[in-house]
Amino acid sequence: MSPKHVEEMYDAVIVGAGAAGLSAALGLMHSPDIEQLKESGIEPKVLVISKLQPLRSHTGSAEGGIAASLGNVEQDDWHWHYYDTVKGGDWLVDQDAAKLLAEYAPQTVINLERMGVAFSRTDDGHIAQRRFGGHTADFGKMPVRRAAYAADRIGHQILHSLWQQCVAAGIEFAEEWYVTDVVLDKSGSAVAGVVAYDTHAGVTHAIHAHNVMFATGGAGRLFHTTSNSWDLTGDGMALALSAGLQLEDIEFVQFHPTGLAHTGILLSEAARAEGGVLRNADGEAFMERYAPEHRDLAARDVVSRSIMAEIDGGRGVADPKDPDGPKDCVWLDMTGIDPDHMNAVLPQVVETIKAYANLDPAKDMVPVKPTAHYTMGGIPITTDGEVYRWAESGSQNGDADSGTRTVVEGLFAAGECSCVSVHGANRLGGNSLLDACLFGTRAGESLAARIAQSPVDDPMRDADADDGPAEA
Ligand SMILES: Cc1cc2nc3c(=O)[nH]c(=O)nc-3n(C[C@H](O)[C@H](O)[C@H](O)COP(=O)(O)OP(=O)(O)OC[C@H]3O[C@@H](n4cnc5c(N)ncnc54)[C@H](O)[C@@H]3O)c2cc1C
Repeated sequence: MSPKHVEEMYDAVIVGAGAAGLSAALGLMHSPDIEQLKESGIEPKVLVISKLQPLRSHTGSAEGGIAASLGNVEQDDWHWHYYDTVKGGDWLVDQDAAKLLAEYAPQTVINLERMGVAFSRTDDGHIAQRRFGGHTADFGKMPVRRAAYAADRIGHQILHSLWQQCVAAGIEFAEEWYVTDVVLDKSGSAVAGVVAYDTHAGVTHAIHAHNVMFATGGAGRLFHTTSNSWDLTGDGMALALSAGLQLEDIEFVQFHPTGLAHTGILLSEAARAEGGVLRNADGEAFMERYAPEHRDLAARDVVSRSIMAEIDGGRGVADPKDPDGPKDCVWLDMTGIDPDHMNAVLPQVVETIKAYANLDPAKDMVPVKPTAHYTMGGIPITTDGEVYRWAESGSQNGDADSGTRTVVEGLFAAGECSCVSVHGANRLGGNSLLDACLFGTRAGESLAARIAQSPVDDPMRDADADDGPAEA
């Protein structure tokens, strides 16, 4: 009979196999620290645990694009992207982190291209870019095409490419294992490992590791109407809280304006970027009233609030599937988009509308309403992915910076479960895949530097490596 409880030791455990977890695994494996370690004959022991088969991670559902000021279609500048990110976040963004996000975005997208992401192309062969809400040129003057895309399946492309690279790099996966606890040492100042449950074999694994990273995604499933897949139950955040850690900005949840009525399934912002218009019960393109400059492509919080104002003002429409039901939707009118173009650049949107609403967006109005989409807050991290605790200094002057950050040694996070605070109170479209890939890679590099100092397979390693089970 197989054992019900297994103890193991790893250099690093990464929990989550979406864009953030896989980027971290690759950032770790390809870091010069690890290459040097391998040259000296020591193989790092790294395990990526995922409660889903990795290719089912929610990253694969991302549709519209990943933001970067490549300037392939129109003139662009990372300073403009930086400004938009800070403004879009209602000025509650950590500006140092947002600067990194915007500055390293082009390199992040080019790295993805080199890893095999099949982006859509311009006629002259460059990565194609489209408009996304809140992304502007010249510090807010006019919209700019900044989202690099792959039709409306960018997440699918990124997830598959990263995963293939991980397989090629020989990274070890524990698929359909569920992490139930993160364990800190007795002082609570350093990580000691995780407890995971193998859902196939029914075996519990106590995994000792001096380096643990969370990349467990968001918590959209807290809401009735959400675009998030069933697994997005905020596990990483809950595990951090139960280990006595804190969460940051957790009250900031983004509602995407265009969830398909009833289901909440996302109809990408790309539908409006390609010419779709929101209309109320009177047929009015009401966004002109709320945001005359950017109209349907104003930032998501602005559009979502405008939709709710229309519904509250009695100008909402009922879902045609339930004509006597509540008038809690508005119309998404895509009939002005050339049908051939629509099928070429929005295949996923068209398919979703046909399959779930039995409507043809080339002819029919589509009922939509705001849907819970993204968790801006999460486990607080530094720009190197280190999880930290925050303590007020007791200052009475109301200064938000009057406190101290204490890093939990060896504990890292990235992606939607974390809060490096690049999104403030509202994330711009295309900025979260970027956040997950860039800060995931950075966290992986931080893990690599720590592993290189004290790998578990090093025969010279001190007794510390065998310090046995830690306090749960
Ligand atoms: C429908 C949709 C469309 C989107 N479109 C875009 C877009 O166009 N552009 C953009 O920038 N962003 C988009 N986003 C947001 C973006 O896709 C996500 O924020 C990003 O992919 C999150 O990546 P992640 O790696 O943090 O988490 P995820 O991809 O959600 O992965 C989480 C991983 O954690 C694992 N996990 C969770 N809990 C546990 C546990 N307890 N034990 C073990 N494993 C666990 C899961 O198995 C999974 O592998 C979209 C999101 C949605 C929902």
